[in-house]
Amino acid sequence: MNADLVIVGSGLFGLTIAEQAATELGLKVAIIDRRHHIGGNAYSKFEENTGIEVHQYGAHLFHTSNERVWEYVNRFTEFTNYVHRVYTRHNDIVYPMPINLGTINQFFNAAYSPAEAKALIQDQAGELAGTNPKNLNDKGISLIGRPLYEAFIKNYTAKQWQTDPSELPASIISRLPVRYNYDNRYFNDKYEGLPLDGYAAWLERMAAHPNIEVHLNTDFFEEGHEFSRSKVIGQAPVIYTGPIDRYFDYAEGDLSWRTIDLEEEILPIEDFQGTSVMNYADANVPYTRIHEFRHFHPERTYTKDATVIHREFSRFAEHGDEPYYPINTSADREKILKYRELAAGENQVLFGGRLGNYKYFDMHMAIGAALSMFDNKIKPHFTGGNKIVSGGIDE
Ligand code: FAD
Ligand code: UDP
Repeated sequence: MNADLVIVGSGLFGLTIAEQAATELGLKVAIIDRRHHIGGNAYSKFEENTGIEVHQYGAHLFHTSNERVWEYVNRFTEFTNYVHRVYTRHNDIVYPMPINLGTINQFFNAAYSPAEAKALIQDQAGELAGTNPKNLNDKGISLIGRPLYEAFIKNYTAKQWQTDPSELPASIISRLPVRYNYDNRYFNDKYEGLPLDGYAAWLERMAAHPNIEVHLNTDFFEEGHEFSRSKVIGQAPVIYTGPIDRYFDYAEGDLSWRTIDLEEEILPIEDFQGTSVMNYADANVPYTRIHEFRHFHPERTYTKDATVIHREFSRFAEHGDEPYYPINTSADREKILKYRELAAGENQVLFGGRLGNYKYFDMHMAIGAALSMFDNKIKPHFTGGNKIVSGGIDE
């Protein structure tokens, strides 16, 4: 093994560390990934029959308000001016999402002003109005009142998380804005867009430095190659971005994760749903949403003869499934504290990324956290000889 730094996982967290270590410090970096491609969950490919770019692990929309992250990602790709807007179906009627004055007036068949709508929602939130509950159920009701919560959030969340919303953290729902105007942008961030020539091209440019070697189809926990755990630990610092419970052989028990199944269909029509993402809020439809990929790139000239859709189904992850979303129940929160103690005892191993932190990171958060880890831990180690202090879970 001939590397100064070994990175387990080529998602955006691992790629950012690799790129910085190679460019800023001239280090020889080995990235391993058990998948057959780089980029982790952000990876996409152009579907062969239609040429339409399909996000392989669920639709990925880039957005950030972080100036440093925006400057950084623009070194590797230009972004289109795509602005994400989502619609949701409830009782066979389509509403704009996230909840805004348009949704409220359509739902109540009314023409409320912003102040009237606010007063109504406060009234409908009852005793929870204006409070700051810690669980998703109460937080949802406090934000939008009971009728809207029951129509648009309750069943969708049950399908997506299969966990009682009173057991889920409020932060899941706080991701969604609620607006008392007609702005129906999905995100509030200053910058937003999709990589002009696709995710794969962006991700490959991040790994293009000659000092970076990528080893695909290579699992850290499998023997028989030079980058297995037993061969690497102690030989070079390791940045581990896989699931933290797996690293410790589930010693403190399994953390719960959600995975998704995507059912792809190519339809012989130009346009299936007229928009990129349609949520299905009701319990009688088994999937949570349908993505139609052509709508992510209106600037491209795609075929008019076909369109590609994904129906998204959500379920608990078992061992062997891809762990996508940390569920983070109270039992999980106890376990993660124990895993963090174990991580603190590891020698020259830093844990990062969505899986290594057990945190619901968006792409810009994964990149921002990797830049901080590089500045605060990796660079001082290689330039000043500081010991890599483990327990490197970035809070
Ligand atoms: P990952 O991308 O998960 O990469 C981890 C890598 O580690 C994987 O490639 C995996 O194969 C590898 N690995 C794991 N274990 C091992 C092992 N034992 N040996 C070798 N390799 C290993 N973010 C947004 O900003 N906008 C969105 O719209 C958005 N949508 C999302 C939709 C879905 C369905 C999901 C799951 C995530 C979404 N995200 C979105 C989040 C985004 O995917 C993450 O922020 C980003 O991928 C985090 O990068 P990462 O490097 O931490 O992890
Ligand atoms: N959510 C909902 N109804 C919707 C959209 C979102 O109840 O139509 C809830 C759901 O609990 C979801 C959370 O809001 O997990 C965050 O939504 P987001 O679209 O950010 O989820 P992601 O894209 O990460 O799956």
